[in-house]
Amino acid sequence: MARVAFIGLGNMGGGMAANLVKAGHDVTAFDLSEDALLRAEGHGAARAGSAQEAVANAEAVITMLPAGKHVREVFETNVIGCAPKEAILIDCSTIDVATAREEIGKAAAAGYEMVDAPVSGGIAAADAGTLTFMVGGTDAAFERARPYLEIMGKAVIHAGAAGSGQAAKICNNMLLGASMAATCETFVMARKLGLDLQTFFDISSKASGQCWSMTTYCPVPGVGPETPADRGYQGGFAAALMLKDLRLAMEAAQSVDAYTPMGAEAETLYARFAELGGGGRDFSAIIKMIDDSWQAPQ
Ligand code: NAD
Repeated sequence: MARVAFIGLGNMGGGMAANLVKAGHDVTAFDLSEDALLRAEGHGAARAGSAQEAVANAEAVITMLPAGKHVREVFETNVIGCAPKEAILIDCSTIDVATAREEIGKAAAAGYEMVDAPVSGGIAAADAGTLTFMVGGTDAAFERARPYLEIMGKAVIHAGAAGSGQAAKICNNMLLGASMAATCETFVMARKLGLDLQTFFDISSKASGQCWSMTTYCPVPGVGPETPADRGYQGGFAAALMLKDLRLAMEAAQSVDAYTPMGAEAETLYARFAELGGGGRDFSAIIKMIDDSWQAPQ
């Protein structure tokens, strides 16, 4: 079993680190939040006083941080040059493609192997060890990271060279954001046209309009399988995180001159929803705004 340094033990990282401990790894944790550290200790991880201390003796360094600026700061100040050169570096945060490529390049120049390995699946999947990892990096780095990722996930897929994990993640989430918005406006229009929504679901989920946002994650309460819509849009995937991913997608689109009008519209809609106070709700709650009945939570 290996010595693993885990930095960033929030909603996602907490459960991921706990699964590494359960698999028998010797996990040393660091987070700026005392609560996060206490929870990690409760799951059997050892506490480090700093990120540098956590990585000092590590065979693998795993990070699960909020955004690109945190990843840059942690890697440039506390990981590259501080962890042993033999350690495999694995960043699981969702960040912009450019920063991911830059940090992997800096790590390589200093003699490290590193991958970007963002995830699909929320907090429940992190706790259950059923995440999907999309991994960018060399074949050798992927093979070294894979055994750790397989403990935390149900699927580990090599997306391509450095940054490809982040590219796959934001392409997927741009499609998801746009398809959810389209599903929501479709159900609102179907109701206004007098259709019974369960009947429309039964038709469309077996016809050419079928998509995951409707069939698996229907935004209408009481229609289709149980989803966050049936729980008052609590839990699930927060609209604020969807907005973060859509912004990353728009940045990436601009950087390669890709024309993404549907992604841009989805970003505009989710930004408006967040401004109206919906950021903490599941992203399917945007149907309320499209239906003109959204009341900001008190
Ligand atoms: P979170 O805010 O709960 O956790 C991030 C943790 O990083 C916090 O505990 C914070 O204290 C810590 N941190 C920040 N800067 C630090 C530093 N310099 N040193 C040490 N610790 C530091 O966020 P989360 O929900 O766990 O998400 C983490 C990442 O996973 C994000 O990039 C997010 O987009 C992505 N993601 C989240 C979900 C989800 O459903 N929550 C799903 C898929 C992907």
